[in-house]
Amino acid sequence: MAKSAEVKLAVFGKAGVGKSAIVVRFLTKRFIWEYDPTLESTYRHQATIDDEAVTMELLDTAGQEDAIQRESHMRWGDGFVLVYDITDRVSFEELVSLKNALDEIKKPKNVTLILMGNKADLDHSRQVTVEEGEKLATEMACAFYECSACTGEGNINESFYELCREVRRRKMIQ
Ligand code: GDP
Ligand code: MG
Repeated sequence: MAKSAEVKLAVFGKAGVGKSAIVVRFLTKRFIWEYDPTLESTYRHQATIDDEAVTMELLDTAGQEDAIQRESHMRWGDGFVLVYDITDRVSFEELVSLKNALDEIKKPKNVTLILMGNKADLDHSRQVTVEEGEKLATEMACAFYECSACTGEGNINESFYELCREVRRRKMIQ
């Protein structure tokens, strides 16, 4: 049997935006309320994407790492999920410096990423509009998704698969 392709994905964003909840929703289709915010976890996940076997390595970062740890996570990853919380404007604004750090570390190659606005179920407390999310994604030249790890809305699976596809496409042309 052909060897399955490996794709390393790292999930970044401020502590509390729901990175762990998103990763667990992706892996288990369930929502679990509380995770240790200081924990960083890695997972291996086998998937079939467009009839092709893919082994995904997922790094769920803690969101509190120092510059050296962050840089090593950025070097490790092939693709990145940048997460903010739609009810936390600071979490959205912080992603700009994260993207700049990624560009710096990954150059001269392009950075492969997606932008995710989580907690879409909390629309009544929204601080970041859908249009602002779309605009930032356009500036970052990446796909944009709003989702809720809590309710499952926004198709988290498909956004992770799309990121895998993009990583594979870019690897093939390099
Ligand atoms: P992390 O620090 O980014 O990994 O964030 P967590 O996954 O630990 O989530 C932080 C808090 O936000 C927890 O209390 C979660 O239950 C909550 N949370 C995560 N995702 C959602 C969501 O989509 N909707 C709501 N309402 N709460 C969420
Ligand atoms: Mg976490």
